Amino acid sequence: MEAENALVRMHQDLQRALKKPAERRSWAMAVDVRKCIGCYGCTVACIAENVLPPGVMYRTVLDIELGKYPNVVRILKPMNCQQCDNAPCVPAANAVAPGSLEKRPDGVVAVNYERATKEAFEAARAACPYKRAVYFDDGRFYTDGTPARQAYEMRPSFEYGKEWTRTAGKPPVNALRKCHFCVHRVENGELPACVTTCVGEATYFGDLSDPQSLIAQLLRENRDKVMRVYESKGTQPRVYYLTDTPVLCKSQHP
Ligand code: SF4
Ligand code: SF4
Repeated sequence: MEAENALVRMHQDLQRALKKPAERRSWAMAVDVRKCIGCYGCTVACIAENVLPPGVMYRTVLDIELGKYPNVVRILKPMNCQQCDNAPCVPAANAVAPGSLEKRPDGVVAVNYERATKEAFEAARAACPYKRAVYFDDGRFYTDGTPARQAYEMRPSFEYGKEWTRTAGKPPVNALRKCHFCVHRVENGELPACVTTCVGEATYFGDLSDPQSLIAQLLRENRDKVMRVYESKGTQPRVYYLTDTPVLCKSQHP
């Protein structure tokens, strides 16, 4: 189906979506695990884009063996916050730190760095079934213990459309941090960093409410190959996976 370059197509989809009112966009991600080569390019691109400190990785890649010997399948499954439509992290975090998490009309679960305290992080982590979705920025730098900070660690990030420079005592230091589908890029006409850098062309992003978008078409035309992680928990994640073994893949997510 992909006669044209997927990135070009997704970029065109994005331009179309941005012409719509924000509340009518419905951002979603799809990962074709059959195409992921486990290069961790997405992980590194995300760290660079969002200036992430040690111990914080919005995007990880799980190397999973499914089934029992001799009938086993090995898959590489990229994971990030699933931007759940029924996100248990939101009420949990807001109960201890009001206003710390918000479910946006476009589907993104957004963090308010000014309010997302360690207590909010702990509550969200306890409520989230996905384990590798939420992190806490404890103020460390990769260059701790060396004579000088490096410029790459002091660059600002532009998450949620604001400028943030990691400094002791100032957000996002001491705040909950997680994937936000790079909404600061998306709203400026750029695809998320993990999508543009995906060597395997395994990661897709777009507006699910647009039936002409590549992501909507992919999910529509591959219904029997699509799974979402922990769908049975009712979280309604916005990250979809394409796999030849959806039942196995769904049943054995670690
Ligand atoms: S994956 Fe976890 S942190 Fe992300 S929206 Fe769902 S429940 Fe919240
Ligand atoms: S960049 Fe793409 S191919 Fe590489 S690990 Fe991430 S999802 Fe897989």
